[in-house]
Amino acid sequence: MASSCREIEHMLVDYADGRLSAGESSEVAAHLAKCEYCRRILAALKRSLELAGVIWEDGLAEMEAVRIPIPKKVRKFQWTKYTAVAASILLVFVSSIVWRTFLRPTRKEPTFAEIERRITESGSAARLLAAADLLAKYTDTEAIAKRQYHYVVRKYPETPAAAEAELRIK
Ligand SMILES: [Zn+2]
Repeated sequence: MASSCREIEHMLVDYADGRLSAGESSEVAAHLAKCEYCRRILAALKRSLELAGVIWEDGLAEMEAVRIPIPKKVRKFQWTKYTAVAASILLVFVSSIVWRTFLRPTRKEPTFAEIERRITESGSAARLLAAADLLAKYTDTEAIAKRQYHYVVRKYPETPAAAEAELRIK
């Protein structure tokens, strides 16, 4: 059975994550063998999933560090689809902060250490934001999510994630 790119695309996240049935999996594999476009998407997706895994784990660790209780349901959550998006958001965040740091006319050139600090901060803030967004999906963890948005705004005020978190609080 011939499949179109569109039919394949929505299965790629599960394929990369090894969650497809044998039949679906071989259907995707057959399509990938003859389609470079989907192979490229898969490669990008795999990179973003690896990063997403790190983001998710770090997010949980950071939440524990600030003593935010993590419900079991959230721990077991199939985060892959959600965090694939969060990972790409993080990449945009990181690159935008680098560009702004370089392009903004400042009296003093930022030192490399300063740039590094900002990248680290915006990364941490983006991870927390991603975790909070996940919590905000459930009614019984909404309050925790809100606390976390406030935390991001307070702790990382200069980051794009803080600006996002502020929008979520309103
Ligand atoms: Zn294709």
